[in-house]
Amino acid sequence: PARVRFAPSPTGYLHVGGARTALFDWLLARKTGGQFILRIEDTDRKRYVPDSLEDIKENLRWLGLQWDEGPDVGGPYGPYFQSERLEHYRRAAEDLIAKGWAYRCYCTPERLAEVREAQQKAGKAPGYDRHCRFLSDEERAQLEAEGTPYVVRLKVPLEGETVVNDLIRGEIRFENKTLEDVVLLKSDGYPTYHLAVVVDDHLMNITHVLRGDEWIPSAPIHVMLYEAFGWEQPQWVHLPLILDPSGKGKLSKRKKKNPDGTESENMTLVREFREAGYLPEAMFNFIALLGWAYSGDEEIFTPEQAIAKFDLKDIKKSPAVFSYEKLEWMNGVYIRKLSPEELAERIVPFMQKAGLNVTAEQLVPLVPDIQERIKTLAEAPDMLDFFFRDIETPAPEALIPKKLDAEGTRRALEAARAVLAEVEWTHDAIEAALRQLAKDLGLKAGQLFQPIRIAITGKRVAPPLFTTIEHLGRERVLERLDRAIA
Ligand code: GLU
Repeated sequence: PARVRFAPSPTGYLHVGGARTALFDWLLARKTGGQFILRIEDTDRKRYVPDSLEDIKENLRWLGLQWDEGPDVGGPYGPYFQSERLEHYRRAAEDLIAKGWAYRCYCTPERLAEVREAQQKAGKAPGYDRHCRFLSDEERAQLEAEGTPYVVRLKVPLEGETVVNDLIRGEIRFENKTLEDVVLLKSDGYPTYHLAVVVDDHLMNITHVLRGDEWIPSAPIHVMLYEAFGWEQPQWVHLPLILDPSGKGKLSKRKKKNPDGTESENMTLVREFREAGYLPEAMFNFIALLGWAYSGDEEIFTPEQAIAKFDLKDIKKSPAVFSYEKLEWMNGVYIRKLSPEELAERIVPFMQKAGLNVTAEQLVPLVPDIQERIKTLAEAPDMLDFFFRDIETPAPEALIPKKLDAEGTRRALEAARAVLAEVEWTHDAIEAALRQLAKDLGLKAGQLFQPIRIAITGKRVAPPLFTTIEHLGRERVLERLDRAIA
């Protein structure tokens, strides 16, 4: 059984990259009968965003990625907030110093800045110059006696290489001389990511570390730390990059130019997709395919099917391209799978946001007519609003269909009104009567239906006409026709 963790920092909202990591974690845990752990890496107090933790939890749950251990649910390896585990990191840092794998560095920020500047001038790569690594015992004792604040740094071997054994990429080799003596413990007693992640993954018995491949450069530091502590390494699994639709750059919010010259931002946060009317089951399916293939030809699957098929070995090396078009298509597929009751239920919040106070029961008879047409739930209010609020009376010119004049349009609507005042109020009877009327008037069906549609919905494009008429009810249809004709 695998023990895997998703370890977000509460420095921003859950984005699709993080969701992808969590989703693969979850699949692996479910597949192997293991545990999916949520650990909050909240040691960077400067970048803390107060509501990000709520957002992360809420959107993981929305995607169906419930964790087995972590915030709100607890577990045997807690606490699951790094800020509550400082004692572990402090002790680990002391342990490394005692073993000769780390040292206290007393350099002031001013000195570090000077070093960096000098390196820049000399065209050298910036990095700590290891000044404090080579202090004499007397110098060290003196600084201690003065109570000089210090950080703890890793003592990277000056020679040799470190090998990261990645499940997807194989052996990745790093020359030690290219690695920096990174800070492990800051002067305020907080750990850096490098120390905290290794200590916690070890103490929490994590078997597989899944994370974005932007962490590959940090991996040799972590491997070194495992060696220094004498701990067994987890399996490293660095997930491929997610590129924006052009395939040229990393997926990011950054503004992009649309063909029509306007600018828009890429959606990247899970909450944004949710608010835009994407279904969680579609998001789950789509995200699962970012760097993983379910099978050669099948792209639509349930979480249970994904669990059955999931294998880390099938994760791809090459970057995944994020296609908004494909996501839209997929969302449409999932919308069409819903029963009218389910679809109505999910549309309600979008109606309410649009100021339409409706219940699912009211929507149930109406949604089959839009189910085939919408790609996101957010499109629904615009297609259904005329059922729930009065429309503006369309201008007479707006009613005129192709190859008809104002007078002809008016006569057609008057005739339609007369027919609809009498007809039996069922879909089929309405359809038959209006088709017959078009014939009697010598009009094409569309020439009659278009002005009726606009008169009763206020829109050129609306759900199918006869069910719309049926559901609006005779009274409202006649009233709207009267207003259009007047
Ligand atoms: N806290 C890190 C982040 O926010 C976690 C990286 C990891 O999974 O090791 O991305």
